[in-house]
Amino acid sequence: MIEKLNVDEEKICQSCGMPLTNDVLGTNTDGTLSDYYCKYCFENGNFIEDITLEEAILSIGDMAEQAGVTKEEAIGYASRHLPDLMRWKK
Ligand SMILES: [Zn+2]
Repeated sequence: MIEKLNVDEEKICQSCGMPLTNDVLGTNTDGTLSDYYCKYCFENGNFIEDITLEEAILSIGDMAEQAGVTKEEAIGYASRHLPDLMRWKK
């Protein structure tokens, strides 16, 4: 996940940072596909989970094994990149 993900060029979910491919796009209120969020974060115009940035970073740590990286790597990656995403920018 970490090597494959090029944040500058690829479209990524502006909530969790996963690469946005057409089959994982979330949906807007009017049923159209979101340009910014994946379906795991965003559905019908709303965020599925009302979580804080810290919780989002930790939940990415929990997904580390599936992505084939250590929890530390995943959390390190998330702490560097998530604060720059649209959902978390203050
Ligand atoms: Zn997402």
